[in-house]
Amino acid sequence: MERVYNFAAGPAVLPLEVLNRIRKDIPVFQDTGMSVMEMSHRSKAFEEIIGEAERLFRRLLGVPDDYHVLFMQGGATLQFSMVPLNLMRRSKKADYVVTGLFARKAAQEAGKFGSVNVAASSEDRGFARIPDLSAAAFSSDADYVHITTNNTVYGTRFTSFPETGAPLAADMSSNILSEPVDVSRFGLIYAGAQKNIGPSGLCMAAVRKDLVGFAPADAPVMLDYRTYADHASLYNTPPTFAVYAAKLVFEWIEGKGGVAGMEKLNREKAAILYDLLDDSSLFKGVADREFRSLMNVTFTLPNEELTAEFLSEASAAGFVNLKGHRAVGGVRASLYNAMPVEGAAALADFMKRFEAARRRR
Ligand SMILES: *Cc1c(COP(=O)(O)O)cnc(C)c1O
Repeated sequence: MERVYNFAAGPAVLPLEVLNRIRKDIPVFQDTGMSVMEMSHRSKAFEEIIGEAERLFRRLLGVPDDYHVLFMQGGATLQFSMVPLNLMRRSKKADYVVTGLFARKAAQEAGKFGSVNVAASSEDRGFARIPDLSAAAFSSDADYVHITTNNTVYGTRFTSFPETGAPLAADMSSNILSEPVDVSRFGLIYAGAQKNIGPSGLCMAAVRKDLVGFAPADAPVMLDYRTYADHASLYNTPPTFAVYAAKLVFEWIEGKGGVAGMEKLNREKAAILYDLLDDSSLFKGVADREFRSLMNVTFTLPNEELTAEFLSEASAAGFVNLKGHRAVGGVRASLYNAMPVEGAAALADFMKRFEAARRRR
């Protein structure tokens, strides 16, 4: 079977060049006589892989020297627990901006570790926008402020970041490396790999060095950022194959002009679909215009029946995994870095034909 256009929200499409490279490196990687999957994480070959992955990640994202880069497991969801466990270090209070399902989960989990103040929420607006941060009720003594820079389920994104004096902790799972960010504005950035970095099983973080070392003495060793920082993420076995694939993705991004190059392509892809939504009388965008995500384009059709017809015809035409999250319904087209511009353009053409055919009926 031929490859389809995979619009999944995650795990998601990977660059074909990277997949082909992985295939080439199996069963034998360079002069090791084995594949990366079979290799010791203490081998010289793997240490080079993870070292290069870190260097590339630092260069692509512009991670300053006073930050650790950590390779972890447990997904972004484990960070919902690790962030409060490690960063609630003085007042044991944290501010959360609740802009979607994952942001809400993060806030709920943090409540197990200390006191959580929901400084702002867009839940009353069906998460169709980012709340007005100038009106947010930030605490004066929060240990950190947590935001979710891209809302994967509803399809919104932060266009500016709060500045309260407390370190900013950001879940960037669904838009890391998709557009430049000033890392120095954040105390901590984390992202599950399976959207914009590589296969699932890996979660990456960049954390300011002065924020590490404050987990309680009885914190489980694998939940303490210091364990990863002190051992170059090799305290125990990391997800070796995912780290290797991530390294290849970083090289691929660099070859395409880095994160700035990605942003240009991502804006192009998103504009193709949003322009169509703005012109359509059948498809209707979910997110408020000013907060539209570049990564997850969400829209609805007038009723369930048409939605089901659309999804089934799209799938038959090779556009798969377009079903919206069950909380929103409708359609979600995820346009992560690895989705080519041609994929977005081909989907838009299909949507135009679908709408025209309905009009003729
Ligand atoms: C996908 C996603 C998560 C959950 O990630 P896991 O790696 O499955 O734990 C959390 N936050 C955001 C913003 C996401 O997009």
